[in-house]
Amino acid sequence: MPSQNSSSSISTGEALALAAGSEYSAISIRGARTHNLQNVDLDIPHGKLVVITGPSGSGKSSLAFDTVYAEGQRQYIESLSVYSRQFLTQLQRPDVDSIDGLQPTICIDQRPGNQNPRSTVATNTEIYDYLRLLMARLGDVSCHQCGEPVRHQSLDQIQEALLSLAEGTKLLILAPIVRGRKGQHAEALATVRKAGLVRARIDGQLCELDAAPQLDARKAHTIEAVVDRIVVRPGVNSRLAESLQLAARHGDGALVACYLDPEQEKQARTTGTTTEGLWTDRLFSTKYACPNCQVNLAEIEPRTFSFNSPYGACPKCEGLGHLNQFDPDLVVPIRGLSLASGVVAPWAGLRSATVKKSRASLEAFLTEHDKAKDANWSDFTESFFTQLLYGEPAEKTDRFVGLMTLLEQELATATDEARREQLEAYRGQISCQECGGSRLRREALGVRVAGKTIHEITQQSIYAAAAFFQGLHYAGHDQQIAKPILQEIRSRLGFLQQVGLGYLTLARSSDSLSGGEFQRVRLATGIGAGLAGILYILDEPSIGLHSRDNDRLIAALRDLQTNGSTVLVVEHDEAMMHAADWLIDIGPGAGSQGGKVIAAGTPAEVAADPLSLTGAYLSGRQTIAVPTNRRTADLARAITIAGCTANNLQNVTATIPLGLLIAVTGVSGSGKSSLINETLAPALIRKLGGVAPKPAAHASLVGTELIDKVIEIDQRGLGRSPRSNAATYTGLWDEIRKVFATTKEARQLGYAPNRFSFNVAGGRCETCQGQGLQRIEMNFLPDIFVPCPTCSGQRFNAQTLQVLYRGKNIAEILEMSIDEAVGFFENFSHIERTLVSLCDVGLGYLKLGQPSTTLSGGEAQRVKLATELARAETGRTFYLLDEPTTGLHFDDIRLLLGVLQKLVDRGNTVLVIEHNLDVIKSADWLIDLGPDGGDGGGQIMFAGTPEQLASLPENLTGKFLKPLLKH
Ligand code: ADP
Ligand code: ADP
Ligand code: ZN
Ligand code: ZN
Repeated sequence: MPSQNSSSSISTGEALALAAGSEYSAISIRGARTHNLQNVDLDIPHGKLVVITGPSGSGKSSLAFDTVYAEGQRQYIESLSVYSRQFLTQLQRPDVDSIDGLQPTICIDQRPGNQNPRSTVATNTEIYDYLRLLMARLGDVSCHQCGEPVRHQSLDQIQEALLSLAEGTKLLILAPIVRGRKGQHAEALATVRKAGLVRARIDGQLCELDAAPQLDARKAHTIEAVVDRIVVRPGVNSRLAESLQLAARHGDGALVACYLDPEQEKQARTTGTTTEGLWTDRLFSTKYACPNCQVNLAEIEPRTFSFNSPYGACPKCEGLGHLNQFDPDLVVPIRGLSLASGVVAPWAGLRSATVKKSRASLEAFLTEHDKAKDANWSDFTESFFTQLLYGEPAEKTDRFVGLMTLLEQELATATDEARREQLEAYRGQISCQECGGSRLRREALGVRVAGKTIHEITQQSIYAAAAFFQGLHYAGHDQQIAKPILQEIRSRLGFLQQVGLGYLTLARSSDSLSGGEFQRVRLATGIGAGLAGILYILDEPSIGLHSRDNDRLIAALRDLQTNGSTVLVVEHDEAMMHAADWLIDIGPGAGSQGGKVIAAGTPAEVAADPLSLTGAYLSGRQTIAVPTNRRTADLARAITIAGCTANNLQNVTATIPLGLLIAVTGVSGSGKSSLINETLAPALIRKLGGVAPKPAAHASLVGTELIDKVIEIDQRGLGRSPRSNAATYTGLWDEIRKVFATTKEARQLGYAPNRFSFNVAGGRCETCQGQGLQRIEMNFLPDIFVPCPTCSGQRFNAQTLQVLYRGKNIAEILEMSIDEAVGFFENFSHIERTLVSLCDVGLGYLKLGQPSTTLSGGEAQRVKLATELARAETGRTFYLLDEPTTGLHFDDIRLLLGVLQKLVDRGNTVLVIEHNLDVIKSADWLIDLGPDGGDGGGQIMFAGTPEQLASLPENLTGKFLKPLLKH
């Protein structure tokens, strides 16, 4: 389609054609000005592995995502027909003069975005789609109710099977009429008689229909009509065919062949015993239906295995695999403990009527079972709690209703909001009993490939699944169907292992993956698609990867590139930079001090560039120094968590010496997050009286009296409101408003601190409600934001803006950088202290009023750290950080380490989960998990100093650490 702007708009189709014809050899960017980019001109070579690096906040994402990718998206949408375009959100054109030579662009980022809660590793990589096809086409079907194998066979095939029996075999052909149903079945018997049949097998006994026994209506019966009695020998073919047809008609597609082997018959006759137990039954079905249960399995299709479709999803949990229910472990938190203490707990929070009702019947129950205590205490408590939770069998007259039922009833009727909230706290995600957590209808679980259901296949780790599929062999016709399917599955599993994810189970839900894991899973899909001439853009794919797996990731990116695509990676990892074909260094600083291309070329060229800070680190001109002395651990002053069993943890006991900088290391999937984030952190927080999710299983936690509080510092944003910013988050804004309220003008006008808030009416501009911007909706065009016409973007009303402090109004303060603000507020020591600590973490370039929503993860993390640093604390705080180097350049890491060491110098404990070797080498104490990921991990391999770890030849982390410790 014709483009409106000759300099930059090429459609994806054109881009594809161009990529193929390679009229361009590079993506050529001219005049990029997104966010802080300073009119950047840059050429990114096609078909290469290109790394963009630079300090945090220098503009790497602004260039790669907000400029190149945004333009790729926009060009793609523009290439669609006008008709299709009306259904898509219009994308704003990035602030750039032109981008030429753009290839079709795929962005593989870390943010799951709009995640489907049903999405899993298998669905995300499309492995599940191929698996569904495999199950539907080549699976062995058996009845999900009785387990009977179901083979759909034609009458010819059945006849062939029976004729292959030994000559002389006696054969009964039966038509199943009634299968295990209660009743007298007079009608059914009459129908058989009317059909001209005279014999039947009733509950296993052959009889004449006229002499049939009277059936007990309250019992279940099985009735099969005898269609024929035949002896297998040459010449019976046509009679057999007729009988089979008749039987299948009466049996609604099913028939039973009951036969007696002539050899066995002869033996029985010689020994004079009865042949009764020697007859064998074989069920046949001409339909895809279970001959026993009449369950129709005819419609086994790929969608039968989809938990996203009503055809496949478990009707109870709607394909989620779990239900939001009262959690027995929350209702009775100390199950298994002694009865004396256990009895009280479950009543907590129950409304008094409920309590009385339950207690009265429970006491009766207890007295009755009193003697059982001595007999078998643990069996008794188990049955006690089961009764307590689920009540007693319905037959009992004086039935005790279980707590679970009572709670459900109460929740269903409670109108009081506070009470509902209280009850909700006892609920959790409980595995669905209907489908056993498989998410699927039972029919789907009757289908197996090599003995495994689709659920069992996806419960395996990627390692195990790869071995399973390697061992799968088909022949002939099946082989032709299987081959392309298996190829797709195997290549994806291979790739996932290659990027260090072999430990993940295929059924693992995507929303439980870390950002780095999620990104690498998505990469498998991109690779599986096998497209060429594509521009892939990735954001720090090395996150969460141990050095061991990093090489494999680089090799995987190479595969993409050698397939003819351009791979553009925003990355800080040193090994990745060295491996790149082309390296682009953005800088020199962050924010307004960045936004320029400092160097671009081969890694060697950049390393030799005296202007490039990245180059200085790459060449070794600049380094992060190994600490000259480390703090010594006092294992008597430590926190010890014992008996941890979350996920893959193998009954781990970890001792964390206090007052040190501690790094928890180990390959991805070894259990670091399971131990720290899922067990230790919530257990500590709860023990210190804070609010945290339920900690994962552990036996004990000691030493908590040695600390006052636990603070987790993550990279999550400071708040989703565009009204929050670094100044509001750190509490600076409140203080600055007070300063304005103390000025002479403010006092004369009677302005309190609130007057200087852009969040409440009074001092703010009411046209834009303090936002400074106005949104203008344009029907078919993107919304645009223009400065508010009333306040021209100043956010406050004219009267408020009259008030000046040291010559500046409150709006001008918001525009001030933190660096400038330090001198400006020198008379207010508490304001200055916070500002200085923001500078210390390298955020001096931020404007006080920059909305939180525009801060990067690394910037948000450092705002949080600075807030902590500025706080007067006791030196008994336990800080927890998960991969704090995410998004950080060498030089940012140097700054970050300075901050962490400062916290420890004040007596605090800082624990980080890290892969970055510069951080690991700077720690006082290391706890290394391994030896591998998943089932192959979950143990503490080492605890001690970096030097000690590096001296262990067989330790993976030690191996990579060693070269860094040589002075
Ligand atoms: P990097 O990826 O190198 O860490 P970014 O490209 O994310 O850096 O950010 C570059 C600068 O632009 C930073 O100062 C950041 O705060 C700022 N910035 C990022 N996003 C926005 C936005 N949506 N609006 C305004 N400024 C932004
Ligand atoms: P690490 O932090 O060292 O990368 P994790 O503690 O995240 O390792 O994972 C350890 C093991 O536990 C892995 O096999 C992982 O797949 C498994 N695991 C982690 N979280 C979950 C979860 N929410 N559900 C199921 N398995 C999990
Ligand atoms: Zn279910
Ligand atoms: Zn306004």
